[in-house]
Amino acid sequence: MKKQITIIGGGPSAFLLAAFLDVEKFTISIYEKNKTAGRKFLVAGKGGFNLTYSEPIDRLIKCYSPNDFLDRALLNFTNTDFRNWLGEIGIPTYIGSSKRVFPEKGIKPIEVLNAVLESLKEKGIIIKYDHTFYDWDDAGHPIINKKIVPTDYTVFSLGGGSWKVTGSDGIWLDTFSKKGIKTKVFQASNCGYKIDWKSNFIQKHEGTPLKNIAISCNNIIQKGEAVITKFGLEGNAIYGLSPQIREQLNVISKATVFIDFKPSLTLENVLSKIKKSIFKNTTQILKKELKLSPSQIDLLKTYLSKESYLNIESLAKNIKKFPLELLETASIDEAISTVGGIDLNAISKNFELKKMPNQFCIGEMLDWDAPTGGYLLQASASIGVYLAKYLNQTN
Ligand SMILES: Cc1cc2nc3c(=O)[nH]c(=O)nc-3n(C[C@H](O)[C@H](O)[C@H](O)COP(=O)(O)OP(=O)(O)OC[C@H]3O[C@@H](n4cnc5c(N)ncnc54)[C@H](O)[C@@H]3O)c2cc1C
Repeated sequence: MKKQITIIGGGPSAFLLAAFLDVEKFTISIYEKNKTAGRKFLVAGKGGFNLTYSEPIDRLIKCYSPNDFLDRALLNFTNTDFRNWLGEIGIPTYIGSSKRVFPEKGIKPIEVLNAVLESLKEKGIIIKYDHTFYDWDDAGHPIINKKIVPTDYTVFSLGGGSWKVTGSDGIWLDTFSKKGIKTKVFQASNCGYKIDWKSNFIQKHEGTPLKNIAISCNNIIQKGEAVITKFGLEGNAIYGLSPQIREQLNVISKATVFIDFKPSLTLENVLSKIKKSIFKNTTQILKKELKLSPSQIDLLKTYLSKESYLNIESLAKNIKKFPLELLETASIDEAISTVGGIDLNAISKNFELKKMPNQFCIGEMLDWDAPTGGYLLQASASIGVYLAKYLNQTN
């Protein structure tokens, strides 16, 4: 007789799990609290829709924290495997100049989601919408919409705690804690950070991107772009530093990051360009020789003392390592992802809850972190496929 697998939560980790489970061995049902599945997946599609990130798998693995937790899953189902699978279900992808992987031009996010759901339907997998998990009965069966659902295996794929409107509201955290499962409070990741901008600066530069920069924190460097907002700074050049920034914020309630306005030049190159310039005026030198934007120049001008701005050595140093103080994270609900959720010590290497045999947790509901840009969806997919392989092999 086939065994019953109950998957609770209808996001990418659940889809990939279901897609790779052996339907000869299992009857599979997905329970989703919303009237539709994959709402956060569609929200991700509204922005860049980075399905994965193209780089050698050993380098990709290093971008996750902790990076020894997901390696087996990522090696088992790599970024190439993910792209191949998407191709098989009719979603060809391409690698953008930033190495981010997108659906081929013209393919809308809803078409990607529909292709995934169609592939599940073809396997006979049922999605039950408007079904919310509340708790367990005494025998450990899940209670969904006030009814006990008898099952051989339960897999939770309930998502993180940001963008509650998508259904991933993290309410389940309390339910798991009460059951004695170790959890951690959610914290924002891949989010904006608060800066106490000087009013004359922000009035002029709100909404302006700082392009082709690198930002560092605790010696980790992230290249890309960051947008100056009323709240502070957001964008891919800062999102990827979330673990380092969070660590400082948690300890001393502020964090310092350093902007490199010219990552392609060394300090010596910058210094020499300033020294050799035919221009006398510092602002002209920054504009003409170093091609800094008006907001980059104003940032230096506003925050450096007059002496520092006019001193060639100090100016060059600040172009390469300009310090900015961050005061707090944006609200969790605005964050692209969260850390926290199920403590990694509460699950086995096969993502099984140590306190509840035959019950598993997958995807963003687990306490791991990664930069946005395809890493989050890749990990959710890889964890799902890894668990499918484990269940297929052990039954
Ligand atoms: C603005 C934004 C942009 C993003 N862009 C990218 C990107 O470009 N690239 C990338 O890799 N990642 C991106 N992400 C992150 C990515 O979407 C998530 O990491 C991913 O969706 C997590 O998948 P999951 O399956 O773990 O959970 P989710 O996709 O969050 O799915 C969880 C599901 O569980 C359901 N659920 C929750 N509680 C219950 C319950 N009690 N009962 C039943 N169902 C329940 C929810 O309704 C939801 O459908 C982005 C996220 C956001 C918010």
